[in-house]
Amino acid sequence: MTGKEIREKFLAYFESKRHVRVASSSLVPAHDPTLLFTNAGMVQFKRLFLGEEQRGYSRAASAQKCVRAGGKHNDLENVGKTARHHTFFEMLGNFSFGDYFKAGAIEMAWELLTEHYKLPTERLWATVYHDDDEAADLWHDVIHLPRERIVRLGEKDNFWAMGDTGPCGPCSEIIIDQGEERACGPDCGIGRCDCDRYLEIWNLVFMQFNRDEQGNLTPLPKPSIDTGMGLERLTAVIQGVPTNFDTDLIRPVIARTEELAGIAYGQDPALDVAFKVIADHCRAITFLITDGVLPSNEGRGYVLRRILRRAVRFGRLLGFKQPFLAPVGQKVIELMGGDYPELLDARSFIDQVVHNEEERFAETLDHGLKILTDNLEDLKARGERRLPGDIAFKLYDTYGFPLDLITDVLQEQQLELDLSGFNEHMSRQRESSRQSWKGGLPGELPPVYQVLQDLEATVFVGYDQFEAESQIL
Ligand code: ATP
Ligand code: MG
Ligand code: MG
Ligand code: MG
Repeated sequence: MTGKEIREKFLAYFESKRHVRVASSSLVPAHDPTLLFTNAGMVQFKRLFLGEEQRGYSRAASAQKCVRAGGKHNDLENVGKTARHHTFFEMLGNFSFGDYFKAGAIEMAWELLTEHYKLPTERLWATVYHDDDEAADLWHDVIHLPRERIVRLGEKDNFWAMGDTGPCGPCSEIIIDQGEERACGPDCGIGRCDCDRYLEIWNLVFMQFNRDEQGNLTPLPKPSIDTGMGLERLTAVIQGVPTNFDTDLIRPVIARTEELAGIAYGQDPALDVAFKVIADHCRAITFLITDGVLPSNEGRGYVLRRILRRAVRFGRLLGFKQPFLAPVGQKVIELMGGDYPELLDARSFIDQVVHNEEERFAETLDHGLKILTDNLEDLKARGERRLPGDIAFKLYDTYGFPLDLITDVLQEQQLELDLSGFNEHMSRQRESSRQSWKGGLPGELPPVYQVLQDLEATVFVGYDQFEAESQIL
C-alpha cells in the first residue's frame, strides 16, 4: 500500500462509520494566540470540544498538516536521530463531539488496524492512564488483549493536552513492538525508554476537561474523542521499512537530495542524519510558506528561519556549497501537490522565498562556521569541552546562528555549550538596547521598546518556551 492509499483508507473507513471527512486546516491556527502552529488534528475542532460552536455533525475524520517545532510539542532536535519524529507530519484522526466515547474509539481503532491495515495483533500493545480501569477493561474484555500487553502509565505519557490551556484528558495509546533487534538495551520497555522498538502509532484521547490559565480542570460539556495517528509512522510499519524517512512519502525527497549532492543515502550514519533533516525540514519549509509564514526575526517566522538555517547547515555536511533547498522543496511540491493543491499554487513563490533566504544566510554561515571550528579546535587543544557563552552569543548575534544550530555542531563533536554564559550575554544586550533608547530618545519610545521596557530580564531557557521568548528577540 502506498502512503496515499493508507491515508485514503483511513478517511474512507471512518466515512463508512458515519464520520464527515473534513479537510486539513492551515498550519497557522485560526484565532488562537495560545498556539504557535497546528500541532494535532484536534486544533481546528477546539471550539467544538469546548461546546462554543456547533456544526451539523458529531463525528469527523481528517488528515491534518502538523508542525511540532516550538511550544509544548517540539520535536525539532529529534529529527534525524529517531526513526519516528518530524517537524512536519500528517496526523490522521477521528473525532467524536459528544457522540461515541471510549468503547467506540477503541473498537474502531482496533478494527481498522487489524482487519483493514492487517497489522499483526500479537505485536500490538496498549497503554492507559494509570487509574483508567474502564479503558484497561475494554482492551481486555472487548478486544481480548492479554493483560500483560496493557500498560498503565502516568501523566507524562497518558494525559494529553494541546497546550498549557485548552481541552485535555486521559489517553490510551496503541503501540507496535518492532522486535527485539530494535531494543535500546536491557532496560528497554514501554514507559521506561524512548527508543523506537515499542513504536507509538496511535493516540486515543478521551477528551473530558478544559484547562484554564490557572491550571484548573473543568469538565467539558460532553465527553468526547480526539485521536491522532502519524501517517508516516503507520506507513513505515505497513511498508516494513526501518524509519519514516524510508517510506514512499519521504524517500523520493531524499533521492532528489542524493542526486543534487552526488552522494548516496544509507552509506554513513552521520550523513544519513543530514539527509533526513534536510528532507524533513524541506517539507516543513514548503508547507509553512504555503500557509503564509515568512522568514523573520520573531514568532512563527523565526521558527521557519531556524528550520531553514538548520537545513542549510546540514547541507554543508553533504558538501553543498550552492543553494540546494529550493530544488529539494520543488520535489516536495511534486510529491504532495496532488493531495495538497495549495502547494502547486504557491510553487514559484516558495521557490523565490527559499532561494533568497538561503542565499542571504549562506554568506554569513561559512564565515561563522569558520569561527566556530577554530574555537572548537582551540578548546579541544586545551582539553576543554565547553564552548564559552560569549562565542555562541557572537555567532547568534552577528552571524545569525540560531542556538539549535550551534548545539547541533557541538553535539556532533561531543562538546557542550555554556548556556548560562550565553543567557547572560543575551540579557546584557537587551539591557543595553533598553538603556540606549532611554538615553537617546527624550520623547516617546517606539511601541516595541515600550513593550520591552516592562519586561523582566529574560533568561534563554531553550526552545521549549520559544513562543514567549521569540516575541522579544
Ligand atoms: P512520541 O511519544 O513518539 O513523541 P507523542 O506522544 O508526542 O509521540 P501524540 O502527541 O500522542 O505524540 O500525537 C499523536 C500521534 O501523532 C502519535 O501517536 C504519532 O503517531 C504521531 N506523531 C507525534 N509526533 C510526531 C512527530 N514529531 N512526527 C511524526 N509523527 C508524530
Ligand atoms: Mg512527542
Ligand atoms: Mg508519546
Ligand atoms: Mg502520544
